[in-house]
Parts: sequence; structure tokens; C-alpha cells
Amino acid sequence: MFDILMGKQPKSEVGEVYIIQSELAGDLYAYLLTLLPKSGGLSLGRSASETDKLVRKLQKELQTGRTAAYIAAHPIVPCENCGGTGVEPECSDNPGDTCDACGGDGEGRELYLRVGDVQRFYDFAVASGGFGGHYINPTNIWPKIEYRMYKA
Ligand SMILES: [Zn+2]
Repeated sequence: MFDILMGKQPKSEVGEVYIIQSELAGDLYAYLLTLLPKSGGLSLGRSASETDKLVRKLQKELQTGRTAAYIAAHPIVPCENCGGTGVEPECSDNPGDTCDACGGDGEGRELYLRVGDVQRFYDFAVASGGFGGHYINPTNIWPKIEYRMYKA
């Protein structure tokens, strides 16, 4: 599965379209949401002015090494079944039991996101003139948000 973002008023070829593997996209969106605490997390479609704000934040993140620090601090994506708690959720057949998917350690997979992926998204966003065409699937991202709250 791939996610596709389309530039609204691309200033160059790199701003026309951004294609990213979906699991990697989930990592990217979880990271971007840390920069956009008011976005609600449901839509990544951005107007030109919203995109300007995002790219200014991202530029600082990349320049100051905070992107690399985020990646270093989140080496593991929490288990999608239990959201990192290690316990079967209420909606499962056996709520409260040790999570079947991760065996109780709460760990899903290695984080796929690398600084180069963020840079590639930044390059697209800068040249996009605003973008849209993709909406976050909340089930894809919710475990990561909950995990941060849980770890905090
Ligand atoms: Zn689990």
C-alpha cells in the first residue's frame, strides 16, 4: 500500500506528487503530528498558508537535529493491536489478557522513518503550494499517539 499526496499549485516537478509506502507514511504522520498538535490528526491536506507554517517548522527541525533526535528516541513503533500497553484491548475477544500480537512487550516493529524521508517530504511540501489527496486512517495512527501519552 502507498499513500499519495498531490501538490495543489506546484512550483516545480518535485512539488507535484509525493508517494510514500503506507507504513512509512504512518511513521511520518506520527512525527508530523508532534509538530502540529492542533491539527487533530484527521487530515493532512494543507492549504498553501498552512503548508508554509509546516515547512518552516520542519526546516527548523531538520536544521537543529530535532528530526534525528525524534527518530533516535522512537526506535520501535508500538504494537498496533494493543497500542503499546501489552494488554489485549477492550474490543478484542479476550480484553485484559496479555496481547497476542506482541506477547506483552508492547513492541510492534522497527521505526521505518529516517531523516532522508522527512527531507524528501519537506522538499515536496516546500514546492507543493499546499497539498491534499490523502486522509489519515485514524486506526493507523492512534496507537502511536496513545503510546506517547502512555510513555510520557
Ligand atoms: Zn500488543
